[in-house]
Amino acid sequence: MERTLRGVGVSHGVAIGQVRHMGTAVLEPPVTQVSAEEVPREQARAQAAVDAVAADLVARGNLAGGEAQAVLEAQALMAQDPELLADVNRRIESGSSAERGVYDAFAAYRELLAAAGEYLAGRVADLDDVRNRIVARLLGVPMPGVPDSDEPYVLLARDLAPADTALLDPSLVLGFVTEEGGPTSHSAILARAMGVPAVVALAGATGLAEGVVVAVDGGSGEVLVEPSAGRQEELRRLAAERRAALAASSGPGRTSDGFMVPLLANVGGPADVPAALENGAEGVGLFRTEFLFLDDSAKAPGEDKQVEAYRKVLEAFPGGRVVVRVLDAGADKPLEFLTPGDEPNPALGVRGLRTLLEHPEVLRSQLRALARAAEGLTVRLEVMAPMVADGVDARAFAAACREVGLDAKYGAMVEIPSAALRAAAVLREVEFLSLGTNDLAQYAFAADRQVGSLARLQDPWQPALLDLIAAAADAAKAAGKSCGVCGEAASDPLLACVLTGLGVTSLSMGAASIPYVRAALGRASLAHCQRAAEAARAADTAEEARAAAEQVLSGQ
Ligand code: PEP
Ligand code: MG
Repeated sequence: MERTLRGVGVSHGVAIGQVRHMGTAVLEPPVTQVSAEEVPREQARAQAAVDAVAADLVARGNLAGGEAQAVLEAQALMAQDPELLADVNRRIESGSSAERGVYDAFAAYRELLAAAGEYLAGRVADLDDVRNRIVARLLGVPMPGVPDSDEPYVLLARDLAPADTALLDPSLVLGFVTEEGGPTSHSAILARAMGVPAVVALAGATGLAEGVVVAVDGGSGEVLVEPSAGRQEELRRLAAERRAALAASSGPGRTSDGFMVPLLANVGGPADVPAALENGAEGVGLFRTEFLFLDDSAKAPGEDKQVEAYRKVLEAFPGGRVVVRVLDAGADKPLEFLTPGDEPNPALGVRGLRTLLEHPEVLRSQLRALARAAEGLTVRLEVMAPMVADGVDARAFAAACREVGLDAKYGAMVEIPSAALRAAAVLREVEFLSLGTNDLAQYAFAADRQVGSLARLQDPWQPALLDLIAAAADAAKAAGKSCGVCGEAASDPLLACVLTGLGVTSLSMGAASIPYVRAALGRASLAHCQRAAEAARAADTAEEARAAAEQVLSGQ
C-alpha cells in the first residue's frame, strides 16, 4: 500500500529503488544462561555462523581482487582461528549462548592484540569487523557497515559518519534516507557531494523493511513507500524533464542583470573533482582536507601524501580559484591523532583552528604541503582556517601562513557568532571571509547539527542566521574584501538569491547543486535579490522568511 513519509529534503532529485540498511554497530548480546542440553545446538550455531562469515569474506575477496582480497582472506582466517573457536566452545559449555560466547571470546582476544603493540593493535579493527559479522548473523540483524549489494539501492541509515563514506560505492547508491541528521549533517553534505537525492531527519526511517521500494524526493523531503508502477513512471518522467531544463543553464554564476556571483564546488578530495567540473564549478570554495585523512586518522598525514592529494585538486582548475581549508579536526570530524578523546563537550572544545594552534607542526606541515602542491600551477590558491572566533585567532593563522612563506591569500571561516558580530576585527588580519553556515547555525541556536529532531533550528532560513550573515557581509564590503558562503545554505537555490542580496560575493556547494543555483540566480535581478533579502530578514520565522523571499522573487 502506497504511503508517504516526510523528512527534510537536503539534496535535490528523485531516487527510486529498494532500501538497504546500513548495518549499525552490533549491540552487545544479552548474557543468558543456556542449559546443558542446549550446548551442542549453540556450538553448532556458532560453527555455522563462523563458516558462513568466512565463506562470505573469501567470496567478496575474490570479487574485489588485489589488496582488498588479501585483507578479506586474512579476515576469513581470523574468523576460523582454531584457538578462538575453542574459546567460544568453552564459553558455551559454561552456559553462554552462541552469540554471547563469540562476543566474549573475541573481546578477550582483542585485549591481547591491543596490548601487543602497534602492528597487532592495527588489526583490532579487522577483528572487530569479523566479530560484528558473526554476531550479526547469529542475531539475525543486518550485517554491520555498508550493505553488501551488487544492485543499486537507496541507503537507509540512522545517520552517516564521514568515515562511513570512504566505504560507499557511489555507483550503487541511488539516494539516502536517514533518521537523524539535520540539513547540515554529514549525511546531507555527502549526498550533495555524490549528487544523489537525500532526505534526512525522517522519524521512523530505520523501521522501513529491507528491500522495500521507495521513491525519495530530495527537494520536498517526501519518501513514498511502495509507489505504484504508474507513480514511479510519472516521477521518473518529471525528474528527467527537470534535469533537461537544468542542463540548459550554463556558464558562470550571474544574476539576470549580469551581477557576477562565482559558483564554486565543495570537495573532500580528488574524487569529487570530476563532478565539480561536470557541473561547471568555477573553482573550489571549500576543500575539506580532513576528509582525506578520516580513514586512517591514527597518525598525522605525511607531507608527501598530502602534496599528492592537494595537487590533484589544484591542477584541475587552471587559472581558477581553489580555497583549501586547513584541517578541521574535532567534534563531528575527529582525527585520532589530534582530537582529545575525553572532552566533555567536543563541539565546544579544542577543535578546528584551536587544535592546529596547539599542534603548530601539523599546521606548518600542511601549509608547506600546499605550497609545494601549487608550485608551477596557474591556480589561484587560497587557504582558510576553520572555527576562527575572533581577530586574535585570525592573526595567529595569518602569522602561520606568513611564516612558511605561502604564496596564497589567507582567510577565515565565519562559523562562530562572535566572528560574524566582530567581522571587522577578523578582516583586519586576513584577506577574505567564508561563511560556514552549518556551524554558524549550530552555534547560534545551540542546536547540534547531527540531531535530527533539532532540524528546525538548523534551518538556514532562520532570520537570526541571516542577520549574522549580513553582519559579516557588511563588514567585508566596508573593508573591500570578499565574503563567500561555503555552508550548505549556498545550495538552496532560493536562499542563494537571498545570500546574494545580503552581499555575499561567492557561493560554494556540493557540485550537484550548482545547476539549480545557477538557474535560480539567472532568473533574478540583483535588486530583486536585495529586496528578497530584506523581506526574509524582516520575517520572524524560517518559514515566513522563505515565503517572503519566494513572493518577492516570483513577482519579478
Ligand atoms: C560549515 O560549518 O558550514 C562548514 C562549511 O564546515 P563543515 O560543514 O565541514 O563543518
Ligand atoms: Mg564547519
